[in-house]
Amino acid sequence: MKMPTVRYQNGDMVMGRWPGSNLYYEVKVLDFDAKSSLYTVIYKDGTELELKEQDMKNASGFQTRSRSRSRSPGRRRSQSRSPARTTRRSSSRMAAAVTTAAITDGVTSSRKDTRLKDSLEIRLSPLPQTKAAENNGNNKHEKKEEKQKDENNTANTVNEKSEAAVEVGPDKTQGRYNLRRRKDDGDAKPVETKPKQLGEKDAKLAAAPAASLATPLDFGGKIGAYFWLLFLPAWVLFLVLQVNLEDPSLTNFPPPLPALEAFWDAQALGFVILWILFQALLYILPVGKLSEGVPLRSGKKLKYRTNGFCAVAVSSLAVAAAVHQGVDLTYIHSHFLQLTAASFLVAVLLSVYLYVRSQYAAGEQLALGGSSGNVAYDFFKGHELNPRIKEFDLKFFCEMRPGLIGWCLINFAMALAEMKQQGLDAPSYSMILVNLFQLLYVVDGLWNEEAILTTMDLMHDGFGFMLAFGDLVWVPFTYTLQAYYLVSHPNHLSLPAVAAIVTLKLVGFYIFRKSNSEKNAFRRNPSDPKLSHLQIIPTATGKSLLVSGWWGVVRHPNYLGDLLMALAWSLPCGFSHLLPWYYMIYFIILLVHRDARDMSECRRKYGSAWDEYCRTVRYRIIPRVY
Ligand code: NDP
Repeated sequence: MKMPTVRYQNGDMVMGRWPGSNLYYEVKVLDFDAKSSLYTVIYKDGTELELKEQDMKNASGFQTRSRSRSRSPGRRRSQSRSPARTTRRSSSRMAAAVTTAAITDGVTSSRKDTRLKDSLEIRLSPLPQTKAAENNGNNKHEKKEEKQKDENNTANTVNEKSEAAVEVGPDKTQGRYNLRRRKDDGDAKPVETKPKQLGEKDAKLAAAPAASLATPLDFGGKIGAYFWLLFLPAWVLFLVLQVNLEDPSLTNFPPPLPALEAFWDAQALGFVILWILFQALLYILPVGKLSEGVPLRSGKKLKYRTNGFCAVAVSSLAVAAAVHQGVDLTYIHSHFLQLTAASFLVAVLLSVYLYVRSQYAAGEQLALGGSSGNVAYDFFKGHELNPRIKEFDLKFFCEMRPGLIGWCLINFAMALAEMKQQGLDAPSYSMILVNLFQLLYVVDGLWNEEAILTTMDLMHDGFGFMLAFGDLVWVPFTYTLQAYYLVSHPNHLSLPAVAAIVTLKLVGFYIFRKSNSEKNAFRRNPSDPKLSHLQIIPTATGKSLLVSGWWGVVRHPNYLGDLLMALAWSLPCGFSHLLPWYYMIYFIILLVHRDARDMSECRRKYGSAWDEYCRTVRYRIIPRVY
């Protein structure tokens, strides 16, 4: 029997082709299986794959050709002056373009052309030498680019050549590859890792490395899921009972538990259901924009009815009309516990429904993060990414409507309860500030509803208990604690104090809005001329990272705005108790976790391009805690 020859040894650094694409990345050889003639290699972002020898090349050959190409002055000129390098070109299409260009060329090319392709491909790879590339279509930047390319001919080089080929179509060479993911990827179930799916619909997908692989477990994994399923409802119960105490200090911990029947109120459940149905009705109204979400793994983009501002406006009118008709909204204050319990019941039933239906969902519709195969974990984290009943998107609706608008309704009810309980003609300054600040936050969120389509919740998290509970219970019944607290714990504010708190809120809001809008606009249309002044780092996924503007000053600049606003929400409640500061404390913990989760997720997605971003933008709002 003839033994296969082993060309590469364990530990060798070579270039490995990414499945379904013509892109090569630096990989380290870990093992060779003589039986299957496959090499086990590890990419720089930690992805392990098995490759055929024909999909591996010697690293040194790549670098030599790459350098020699970048020296050509003729080529440099053509790159920077080409009218084709306009802002129309999207960085997200770049990797796809390279892939398709290289593959298409490959059919007829000579050996020399193949060498050229190799050199083009390697420039796209997210290796450390990738520097912040300038965005397109701006003369000022083109000069800078020319200088930069003298030293480092990066992804923009490829951009020009490949643009014409971007529409060539999917990777027709898919069948040539026999690249398969290693079986031993721990707990995570490889949902979308079949090579067949890569590149099937869109060459963009083929160029997205680690993003298409199952993610590590979050929130303490399987054991953590059980913990959170029990802890979160218990914690909300604790807060709701505690805020109802005359002296809600920690010395009165734990608050007395009411009898079991005190939790149940059929009328409260009826109101919760009516409210959700009312919001659902507003959501399906054929008014407002139909916005597109970010591309899914299938390449498809979902459409969302973003009429949230209309929903909050109509809801306000409806509430005003109800109050005018004599409806006593202070019921919300007096039945807070029952309303919380009713919403919890709805959230649990919804989560069960979501989990059951996710069992019938196609693989490409599942969330990578909630596909561990463990029932408790997937139930908690959310198994299906975008569950829909026809066009009705359950996650988007719950994220933006009943809980968020309900938050404002509850705050308003607390202002009425304060007036009633303290015999006031108008709510206190503190209550007005808390109401207005949080109303501004919600109305702004609904006005810019489209922006949520590029947040982690919408893009990556499945819809399960975590979000259902968060949207329907956590947000409306814990974010309103400050207003609830003020009903029976008045805190007088002087006018200078009011002015200082308002200023703080406005500064926070400005940072929050500007930074979120900048990233959202960039993610939606990276070639928007209005953003052409921004500098970027291209990544192998085809998406780029901003390294100027707000995202170039500090990592997660939006979190700074969030924190300043959270401070402004707590200050009106004074310092007598810790409870109204709960939101501030919780929010810091939330952001620490979100930041850590996002940093490791981005590291996984973007590999060394993310490292480059972190080296370029050194400061972070949230210090690294774990
Ligand atoms: P971000 O909006 O900060 O989104 C993080 C994502 O942005 C990353 O995964 C990455 O996604 C992208 N990104 C990161 N760096 C860059 C860069 N340099 N250039 C371009 N894109 C980049 O995170 P969140 O979803 O956590 O937050 C959204 C907002 O909502 C925040 O202001 C947050 O505080 C707020 N929020 C408020 C909550 C509350 O309870 N009040 C709860 C949750 C969020 P990719 O590259 O894949 O596009």
